[in-house]
Amino acid sequence: MAKSASVDISRSLEWASIRRREKLEGKIKYECLHLKHIGTSGDRVEVQLSMISPSGTAYFHCTTCGTWMTEDMTYSYQQEWLTLMAGNAKATLEFVRKSRAKVAKLSKKLLRSGGPVKANS
Ligand SMILES: [Zn+2]
Repeated sequence: MAKSASVDISRSLEWASIRRREKLEGKIKYECLHLKHIGTSGDRVEVQLSMISPSGTAYFHCTTCGTWMTEDMTYSYQQEWLTLMAGNAKATLEFVRKSRAKVAKLSKKLLRSGGPVKANS
């Protein structure tokens, strides 16, 4: 009787830790802007996404949060950032800075609960 109860507890702890990771990964996906670098260099706006395309696929995934996008989506997403930067670089960079701080905090929590975001999750 006592034995089966302890098995149930360890199972629900395992389940709780999986749920905790799922929640954190969801929050990271929500906050992540999929940006590797954004800034200005002279008159030029530089936007580099943190999206990479595994060889043999037409899809891109974010190395920070694991979000997948098609090539078209990735391209138009980058264009959106270029437009935002052209409109108001200062406000855009401030927004990016805040979002990055949130993602960094969430990523630290995720690391403590079993490792970084997996690319295909
Ligand atoms: Zn991302």
